Amino acid sequence: MSDSLEQAKQQIATLRNTLNEYNYQYYVMDDPSVPDAVYDRDMQALIALEKQYPTLQSPNSPSQKVGGAALSAFEQVIHDVPMLSLDNAFDEESLLAFEKRLKDRLKDSATLDFSCEPKLDGLAVSILYENGELVRAATRGDGQVGENITANVRTISNVPLTLRGEHYPERVEVRGEVFMPREGFAKLNEHQKETGGKVFANPRNAAAGSLRQLDSKITAKRPLMFYAYSLGVVQPENFELPTTHSERLKQLGNWGLPLCPDIDTAEGGKGCLAYYNHILEKRDSLPYDIDGVVFKVNRIDLQNALGFVARAPRWAIAQKFPAQEEVTKLLDVEFQV
Ligand code: NAD
Repeated sequence: MSDSLEQAKQQIATLRNTLNEYNYQYYVMDDPSVPDAVYDRDMQALIALEKQYPTLQSPNSPSQKVGGAALSAFEQVIHDVPMLSLDNAFDEESLLAFEKRLKDRLKDSATLDFSCEPKLDGLAVSILYENGELVRAATRGDGQVGENITANVRTISNVPLTLRGEHYPERVEVRGEVFMPREGFAKLNEHQKETGGKVFANPRNAAAGSLRQLDSKITAKRPLMFYAYSLGVVQPENFELPTTHSERLKQLGNWGLPLCPDIDTAEGGKGCLAYYNHILEKRDSLPYDIDGVVFKVNRIDLQNALGFVARAPRWAIAQKFPAQEEVTKLLDVEFQV
């Protein structure tokens, strides 16, 4: 083995161990050990090395995996359609490169329409409705197996227990983010301080800790909210749905599901960049924490043609906000608590 290959092997092993440990603290313990910017930097370094040395790739690498293991304290839920992660873009060039990749793969240079959504900083949840009634809710877990948190999700005030109207699929899985608005988070931490309870590092941890409580009476007291952002299983399969993602979101809204008010659509990569800048400007005044924005190819037929890679759809990307801001935010908030 050449020196550089041997060196890369060692670096990769170190990065995988480090990232596995960060993942465990973040996803299983709801207690991150480093700021997201540090995690993202190490993950990008691992991805770059694995790309440079394809023989060292492994399906068990944290770069190929989604989230963390489900806690055994909860009943397990196997997702019929896996709940994946998102690829990341950290700058303008990588967003424009994403658009180019899409066009190349589709062999079509026509301008693409995108659904543009704030990337809410909470945790992904699947909510299943059968004949319009909420019957099950689960965390994403490792993407294949999540935790049954139905009793807890039922306590979230803006989650409908029954769908509105009459024309909905017999079985429909709604996916979205459970998060804690900033104001509720500040009040909760104030209360926790006064009563000697656990003070949470940030709204994302507070949301994760609150949702994965074994006693749903505790969850019920926490100011959680839910915004829907996609569909999972729909049965019967021939149930007629709108042909674009943004119209499907409106459909979810008509069934009574809450949607993020800052969602929009844009034409092409340039339109996406304008949306990114607009949301970045608004970021501090939003009532909830976000760590970037998500762009999704709007036409469902094109999403289907593009498909998936191991851990993420090819047709979507999360453009993260600048790392420095995240470090500052986390250092200010998290590491002084
Ligand atoms: P991700 O955060 O990059 O993106 C996927 C997630 O985005 C989805 O599961 C969903 O929960 C969320 N999301 C929010 N709004 C959405 C929308 N409108 N549409 C679709 N999804 C939306 O991926 P991930 O796998 O959840 O987490 C990776 C990120 O988590 C890292 O980039 C890092 O920032 C953070 N992390 C940090 C640590 C740490 O130790 N600090 C550890 C692990 C992960």
